[in-house]
Amino acid sequence: MQIVKIALDVPLHRFFDYRVPENEHLNSSDLGLRVCVPFRHTTKIGIIVGLSETTDIPLAQLKSIETVRRDLPPLPPDWFRLCEFCAGYYQAPLGEVMLSTLPASLRRTNPPKAQLSRRTVKQRAPHPPPELTAEQQAALAKIVDDGLGFRAYLLHGVTGSGKTEVYLRLIERALAAGKQVLLLVPEINLTPQLEARVSARFPEAGLVSLHSELSEAARSRNWRAALEGTARIVLGTRLAIFTPMPELGLIVVDEEHDASFKQQDGMRYSARDVAVFRARERGVTIVLGSATPSLESWANATDTRTPGRYTLLSLRQRAVEKATLPVVQRIDTRREKLQDGFSGALFEAIEKRLLRGEQSLVFLNRRGYAPVLTCTGCGWISHCARCAANLVLHLADARLRCHHCGFETRVPKACPTCGNQDIHAFGRGTQRLEEVLAERYPQARILRVDRDSAKSRKQWEALSAQIYAGEADILVGTQMLAKGHDFPKLTLVGALGADAALFAADWRAPERLFAQLMQVAGRAGRAELPGEVLIQTEFPEHPLYAALIRHDYPGFAGEQLKEREQAGFPPYAYQAMLRAEAPQMADSLAFLATARAWPDAELYRDVMLYDPVPMRMARLANLERAQLLIESPSRRTLQVFLSEWRVVLDKIKSPSRLRWHLEVDPLEF
Ligand code: ADP
Ligand code: ZN
Ligand code: ZN
Repeated sequence: MQIVKIALDVPLHRFFDYRVPENEHLNSSDLGLRVCVPFRHTTKIGIIVGLSETTDIPLAQLKSIETVRRDLPPLPPDWFRLCEFCAGYYQAPLGEVMLSTLPASLRRTNPPKAQLSRRTVKQRAPHPPPELTAEQQAALAKIVDDGLGFRAYLLHGVTGSGKTEVYLRLIERALAAGKQVLLLVPEINLTPQLEARVSARFPEAGLVSLHSELSEAARSRNWRAALEGTARIVLGTRLAIFTPMPELGLIVVDEEHDASFKQQDGMRYSARDVAVFRARERGVTIVLGSATPSLESWANATDTRTPGRYTLLSLRQRAVEKATLPVVQRIDTRREKLQDGFSGALFEAIEKRLLRGEQSLVFLNRRGYAPVLTCTGCGWISHCARCAANLVLHLADARLRCHHCGFETRVPKACPTCGNQDIHAFGRGTQRLEEVLAERYPQARILRVDRDSAKSRKQWEALSAQIYAGEADILVGTQMLAKGHDFPKLTLVGALGADAALFAADWRAPERLFAQLMQVAGRAGRAELPGEVLIQTEFPEHPLYAALIRHDYPGFAGEQLKEREQAGFPPYAYQAMLRAEAPQMADSLAFLATARAWPDAELYRDVMLYDPVPMRMARLANLERAQLLIESPSRRTLQVFLSEWRVVLDKIKSPSRLRWHLEVDPLEF
């Protein structure tokens, strides 16, 4: 009798044994096929992970596979190793990891009818590739000289320096060698330009994209094309890192610093970190590119104590002739009374652009009209009833909204507590800036770009086409506008409200602020017209701004890393976070306290367990949240500790409505 081991999408750290029916015979080449199996009272899709002749299950209880699915080639061995690595590193059940990375329709026992492939090929006249600049040439030559095996490169290039062109040359080389290419981007919504650019350069490569906005059918079609090898280039967001690609030869992670590479629920993985593992395991080249690399990657590329971990390649100049980096200036707002949040200098600069027919961008990383509504009579403020957060005023559609749990309600006409009609919007968001500018410049065409105005990819594409065509004079936007876009008429960026991040409790806030400002500054003056960036601040002497003015990412990163090392923060320590949430805070804290009291924890001298504490935003959607930080100077020790501890956690008895999860390498606290 033949027995198979099956991975199933269940939250258990084990496989399941099944009998192979008489009419089937499976051999090792069938590992990685999908099967339908009875499980409890339903039928589930599973993946064959092993063949065996014995089992611990009494034969009478051993159930049989229902069907073997041969509609797809078996999932390749390196895909298994990738899932295994993730399950181990992120402490997630392997079956869940494997099944959850498959497109939904391949996980179903009764899949929807196969649809005709309707790939729309965007026909674009391919531009001849530009001649490389000396810096691009040098970066490319270094990678080419190193050959095709594993090596990780950090391509640090200022905005507009032509990183994408370097990727394109590498893709060309990989394709010519008969390899497949995986290109990861943080948010595909924001990058239709890249998709068009890559497919225009390689029209024969059957480029497919993989991201969450695709229909289920398109996603499984594209995924299958990657597995079957008809797609030679896969362009996708973080989930695409799990695409099986039998002939993978190159991985590129663009904007590698971007927090969107981090998955925030389920298995909380970093697609960038997983990509580096995958490249090493497959023995292929990986290129991480950014104008503002994550400090983790920067340390890997520059720390002289760990030479050669990543190879640093730098592009210091913009690629287009005449395009220079924008001039960045601080506007000291301590010395003047701001008008609706704007300094006189910023208004003047905007007016200059209006006269010259150029575009300005006003950057504020807060959407909505105002962050809170208050009553002058009794001091009432618009709290979310379900979260420890305020309801944000959205005047455009007269709603109060919680940006955390999604709760929303009408804007009251009077204070709900005292009936006072004198209620005020306090503070500013993008909608309010838009209103101020519209009042002041009635003749100007003003466009707001944030997650409210660009909810879908279509809306975003329409907005960006409008901007590109010069049909807007002033843009008001959040960091959505900061990423990767090339607007030729944009010559002024004004940043408001940046100071808030300087002294935030989150020690990663300066890193994020610097990246955001540098990226948003990079939007200005990309073509022939020089750009100017004005940052309104009450702390003009702050070293972060000083580095920004010099366009000195290395200087900033070096200082930050020194501080991190002194404080014992990542990347000089490795962290994990255990979080619990329940209707009562006492239950969440009690769970963490029990977890912390595990006697064997003492044996791990190098692992530090902090005290359980309520999270900074303690209440979210009616649940009270608490967390416990675990830290170690050794990644390896932390891993060993976590895998033992996880078994203990699974056994802790807790109230039925308590949920917990473990996050490795957390980014947010
Ligand atoms: P990055 O990805 O570093 O922001 P891009 O690759 O988008 O930069 O390049 C910025 C601009 O410079 C683009 O318009 C691109 O077409 C152009 N460009 C890139 N490389 C060259 C080159 N070698 N010669 C001329 N123009 C170039
Ligand atoms: Zn009141
Ligand atoms: Zn809420």
